[in-house]
Amino acid sequence: MSLIVQKFGGTSVANSKLIFNAAKKAIKDYKKGNNVIVVVSAQGDTTDKLIEKAKEINKNPSKRELDVLLSSGEQMSAALMAMAIEKLGYPVVSLLGWQARINSSSNYGDSIIEEINTTRIKKELDKKNIVVVAGFQGINKYEDITTLGRGGSDTSAVGIASTLNATRCKIYTDVEGVFTADPRKVENAVKLSYISYDEMLELSTSGAKVLNSRAVEIAKKHNVEIEVLSSIKDVPGTIVKEPSNMEKRVVSGITKNDDIALISVLDISDTPECMFKLFSKLYSKDIKVGTMLQNKSENGKRHLSFTVNKEDYDLSFKILEDYLDKIDPEAKVIGDKEISKISVVGAGMFRSAGILSKILETLYTEQIDVLASTSSEIKVSLLIKEKYADKAVFALHKTFF
Ligand code: ASP
Ligand code: MG
Repeated sequence: MSLIVQKFGGTSVANSKLIFNAAKKAIKDYKKGNNVIVVVSAQGDTTDKLIEKAKEINKNPSKRELDVLLSSGEQMSAALMAMAIEKLGYPVVSLLGWQARINSSSNYGDSIIEEINTTRIKKELDKKNIVVVAGFQGINKYEDITTLGRGGSDTSAVGIASTLNATRCKIYTDVEGVFTADPRKVENAVKLSYISYDEMLELSTSGAKVLNSRAVEIAKKHNVEIEVLSSIKDVPGTIVKEPSNMEKRVVSGITKNDDIALISVLDISDTPECMFKLFSKLYSKDIKVGTMLQNKSENGKRHLSFTVNKEDYDLSFKILEDYLDKIDPEAKVIGDKEISKISVVGAGMFRSAGILSKILETLYTEQIDVLASTSSEIKVSLLIKEKYADKAVFALHKTFF
């Protein structure tokens, strides 16, 4: 029998009416004879509100306790969704992350699913229940509740779908699918009927919020077909899958990421030891370094620039200043928080010469300065001033679509 996993994001279960709307979608697939698992996120902006609540009590709560709190949002949605399905007259059971045995890594706040013991879920499916699973939650080896990182319900859904070999994983959301650019910002953005895992991965990590990047990685690894679709409009969404024989588009999408900041270290001693120690200081605080640029060494000194997430900016700055004060007082740290990364993504890009020059020409015409650029086989990313980000996306979209 085929299994369908449906996942509903926060905006798709934000109130009772929407919960019933989602419940009906689950029932529709169930009535066709499928096994159905429904994975839910916390309602609306519940998770943000819970974080605020935590900070009212303790500005630096332990990650363990924060996970106990944050997981309550999904617990609430799971119970409400089950009650709605029950009310509509269908057999249902809700399971929290620990009950569904979503076994995660031991860290809190950003845990990884290590494996899912499906005994309980299967037992419930065998009883012909629609199974509602609280997304975002895991349990670690200490039998503590963990969470899977922001947007982690996608990961729960794809993890369950891959472990149980689901026929399809439907991610219901507040947009109709994956677009060539953010449709709220770029009015000519078009919905893609399909997109490859690699392209989706690049778009997700480059700032498109429609699918969590970790979920895409799992889907790619286990070849789970995902459909991203609207929970309101009954129209086909975007299918994320391996492109097989389909023509690979040169450019599939353009995204921006405003959540980054740029840090530069000027006149740092150009020794391998100094470089490596500098970055290990950042890594020891869990700070991820993104795009990095180094210029050529002059008189044994060099300049170094790299991006970090905006929320890590202040801490990174302080760590570097304190450290360099001690070991290399001549070096200077400067930074810029108002930076955006614009990415142009397309699986066919490597075949097509001149993409980079088209991108640069577009930005030049708009008089937008490119601070740095990097490229891979399927992506070109550019760092620019944040105030030009929307303009850049708009202009690039016009060039390529
Ligand atoms: N509620 C969590 C969050 O807002 C998880 C999710 O929505 O997927 O990040
Ligand atoms: Mg959410």
